[in-house]
Amino acid sequence: MTPKLILIPVLAAFLAGCSSGLQNDNSPDMTTSSLADYQRKAENFNSVISLPHFETTTNTIAQSVQLTIALGNKALDQIGKLTPAQINFTSTIRALDDAAYKASLTANRLEIIRQTSTNASLRDAAEDQTKLLNQWLVSLDYRRDVFLVIKAYADTKPDLTGEDAKLLSETMRDYRRAGVALPTAQQDEVESLRKKLSTLETDFGANIDKARQKLVFTRAELDGVPEDFLNRGDVNNSNGTYSVMANITWHYITVMENAKSEATRLKLETARENLARAANVPILQQVLVLRDTIAKKLGYTNWADFQTEIKMAKTGARAADFLERLKTGLQPKFDAETAEFRAMKAKDIGDPSAQIFLWDWRYYANQLKKEKYTVDEEALRVYFPYQNVLDGMFKIYQRIFGLKFQRIEPPYKWVDDLQLYAVSDAATGEPMGLFYLDMFPREGKFNHFAEFSIIDGKLLPDGKYQRPVAALVCNFPAPESGKPSLMAHEDVVTIFHEFGHAMHCILTRAKYGRFAGTSVPGDFVEAPSQMLENWAWDKTVLDSFAADYRDPSKKIPAEILGKLKEAKLATEGNVYRRQLSFGLADLALHTQIHADNEQETVPLANRIAGDTFYPEPPDTAFVAYFGHLMGYDAGYYGYAWADAIAADMATIFQNAPDAFFDRDAGMRLRHEIYSQGDSRDVQISIEKFLGRPESIDPFLKKIGITNVLPGNP
Ligand SMILES: [Zn+2]
Repeated sequence: MTPKLILIPVLAAFLAGCSSGLQNDNSPDMTTSSLADYQRKAENFNSVISLPHFETTTNTIAQSVQLTIALGNKALDQIGKLTPAQINFTSTIRALDDAAYKASLTANRLEIIRQTSTNASLRDAAEDQTKLLNQWLVSLDYRRDVFLVIKAYADTKPDLTGEDAKLLSETMRDYRRAGVALPTAQQDEVESLRKKLSTLETDFGANIDKARQKLVFTRAELDGVPEDFLNRGDVNNSNGTYSVMANITWHYITVMENAKSEATRLKLETARENLARAANVPILQQVLVLRDTIAKKLGYTNWADFQTEIKMAKTGARAADFLERLKTGLQPKFDAETAEFRAMKAKDIGDPSAQIFLWDWRYYANQLKKEKYTVDEEALRVYFPYQNVLDGMFKIYQRIFGLKFQRIEPPYKWVDDLQLYAVSDAATGEPMGLFYLDMFPREGKFNHFAEFSIIDGKLLPDGKYQRPVAALVCNFPAPESGKPSLMAHEDVVTIFHEFGHAMHCILTRAKYGRFAGTSVPGDFVEAPSQMLENWAWDKTVLDSFAADYRDPSKKIPAEILGKLKEAKLATEGNVYRRQLSFGLADLALHTQIHADNEQETVPLANRIAGDTFYPEPPDTAFVAYFGHLMGYDAGYYGYAWADAIAADMATIFQNAPDAFFDRDAGMRLRHEIYSQGDSRDVQISIEKFLGRPESIDPFLKKIGITNVLPGNP
């Protein structure tokens, strides 16, 4: 199953500070509407708008899964008993997509409950039932009766075109990849290994969600850390000590970027890299062995080849080669950056032979920004009150994609501050879909930034189109009474990124659930959102909403934004080498770990990561807390791969008459990328959007590589 959760890369998980504040609910230009009106309007367009009915008790969660499985089995029984005379596209391939789609609705709902519920027992129930549902989803591939009917239809060599032809060929491809060509006993074995794998994957993620580690420091140990952070109620213990949570990403980043004490940074880095270690290292070893065994049984050399076969990269070797070439290309820049950090550290500690370690780079990157580029990121927060950023981004996306957003009161809220918006086509009024916003952290909530597709688009059997529903689940600085909620610039980048995924989900016109919205290959899915990050670096874009909240006549000075960009480029070698270290470690684990050497898992990952970036602290296991290994497995390279495409795509806007406000370019993105989803090969969609073949040059320029690498990603 394609993961429906779209994560941002580990590198972008920056929540660099801790201001917070008032919620201003008066969004200018944002009219409200009622759900009933919106639903009625959809009828005029022969489409359906519905909201998910979230389960609110552990019993109903279990009942939903039972019902989903029972209805799914019934639908499959129906396909399985078709006679040759009854076999056609609708009764076979399409009916299978319908059945899988219905099950996905339950799975997506449970995922939201698991990640957002304020009730721990509901989260646990959703986790348990997700395991059950996933087991059943695996078993679908091994329904022999269903497969034989589908195959009988494929054997008629039907004359299909476009999306229909793609659906048939990918359905058959999935059967092949499930091992249906194998003798029955071996098929049974693959099925049972896959079920075991799916449960362990859920367990691994749950252990990450539950990992907690509190470190207590003295004031002296936290010298350099901003006062705002130290004065927070959840940090200041009021007895001269301070609690820092290694599992709260923005706590971690704030201290790593600012604490002058190397001992403090080493202690926190070590704690962070040991989160979930005891529980997850054994699970990861089993997972890697299972994946390798399954891949080999299916005729692949390793799991990386199995995973990349259906992506743009096509082979694990090509993905690794892309990363290796970038690694080499970045070497001079990375070395120069490290030398600059080293000189700063040598001066700091009075030791000319000072070395830079993994626990140093964030601190010196931040010092470099402050000293050489005079950029104080904390001070920039005054320009980014949360509501202004949201409204400003909405205005831009409404303009370029030809849309209208309206607030709707959600009939059911999983948390009090949940917001719901309806999206309509501005020209025709056509309802396109809905999105929820759950933006602030709380205990037990998913601790990252992601878009979740809850209802995907699909042409229903009755000929009506089911419009999508998405959710952004984020952790921006929580509002605290008496203070305006101020975002870091990095948060602004993140919200432009994540909201792009919601647009990808909502603007879909794909006929089949499996091709809808963000269901594109994993090494492309990030590209449109990575491209939209550019908006947050553009002066004209920022001036349209960012102003000092104390005196809104004050915009961000061009000089400061220029310095911010220079500072970003000045550490890009570090940022990308770190990114590559994750991508290469992920690919190494999925090509080199097998049943004979599972004990090598942690040493191998640490060695590869250390060779590419800075050596890991002694006695740590970062892989235990590396959530991407489940869902983005042998796929982390996709962030860099998609980044290359994103930089190329951005040139279309950069060269357009209205630049980042350009309607034509925006509508082209909407129609050639978002509407299409995976209903045609994404390579075609990319080139239709570009109006030319791809080029890697904009990416190399963006990250400061001057020694040109041959070829595209
Ligand atoms: Zn993303």
